[in-house]
Amino acid sequence: MVNQNQKTTIYLDYNATAPLRSCAREALIAALDLPMNASSVHSYGRKGRKLVEDTRILLGQTLGCPAAQIVFNSGATEGNNTLLYHFANSFPDERILIGATEHSSIYKMPLKNVTKIPVDANGVIKLDALETLLEEPVKTSLVCVMMANNETGTVQPIQQIAALAHRYGAMMHCDATQGLGRFPLDLQALGCDSMTVSSHKIGGPQGVGALALMRCGVTPTLIHGGGQERKLRSGTENVAAIAGFGAAITESCTDSYIETETARLKALQTKLENGLKQLTPDIIIHAEGAQRMTNTTLISLPSAKTESLLMALDLEGVALSSGSACSSGTVKASHVLEAMGITQPTLRLSTGYKTKESEIDAFLDLWQTITTRQHAA
Ligand code: PMP
Repeated sequence: MVNQNQKTTIYLDYNATAPLRSCAREALIAALDLPMNASSVHSYGRKGRKLVEDTRILLGQTLGCPAAQIVFNSGATEGNNTLLYHFANSFPDERILIGATEHSSIYKMPLKNVTKIPVDANGVIKLDALETLLEEPVKTSLVCVMMANNETGTVQPIQQIAALAHRYGAMMHCDATQGLGRFPLDLQALGCDSMTVSSHKIGGPQGVGALALMRCGVTPTLIHGGGQERKLRSGTENVAAIAGFGAAITESCTDSYIETETARLKALQTKLENGLKQLTPDIIIHAEGAQRMTNTTLISLPSAKTESLLMALDLEGVALSSGSACSSGTVKASHVLEAMGITQPTLRLSTGYKTKESEIDAFLDLWQTITTRQHAA
């Protein structure tokens, strides 16, 4: 990748956002050129409607969910807020259980009846603690756990969590923002009653996503108005972005693509982590013992100043994050790291579909130069 000053950029921040895929760009631009309100009855409107419905069918097939139960929105933040407000308002006397490492779009919601499910040192939900919470006399309406963590890459045992939730009469919501395009997703097989996904994490446009609902009876609505999306999400559909999202799904969400890409990124992850350990033996790779996404490596280097490392790497054209880039962009411990008992500052390296082996080699060369320089200073 090349930035505006023609300096080579090594982009290692896919968990924040993925570069737009060419197919998504083409679909997006083609759709932007026509005045398509999908609710209009004229030919432009019908064209827009078709683009929206084609993506809905595609996403329904991808998630193993009836297309009619897919609601397009502005992204995973909105999807998560919509679902949780619905449960909090519909069942005010019941409790919502959320993972202690959920994304801020769940974790920071101003809800009263929320209890956090503890995680172990790898960030994995403690199933026994979840069961103890479910056994308590106060009824649980919803269990909400993410598929994979954006900061650490830790993958949760969603099937087991969903089975527990259902055993105690609760519904199961899964934030699969980091899971789409990385795992074959099937709501029914996973036991999820609802799921959020977001386009920009798979190389589609930003500002579009979807909430998938398995149970027809649940009708969460956050935005009221003209009654679009079966009255569940009012506001003119972002037709062009939905078309771009569809193109990105077509390219990146088939089982064979996911299998090949997972294996390719696993090889890069092994090379990266072995290289880091060799160059800086005191490095800590967080959640190393857990099932992790093959694209994510979260590290701490006790012998170096993380902020200086981040700045030095940025000057060399490397784009990565400290902890989560979803929040303020400052280097401070997130609730995710706190829940896992991590007190050191961290750097997150996350790869994706454009990452090449030569970029990992170039990154390791820079790492050697920068850490040697820091130690000498
Ligand atoms: N959940 C997770 C796990 C995420 O990683 C993110 C984005 N960082 C979100 C939710 C929010 O997604 P969006 O940008 O679509 O609002």
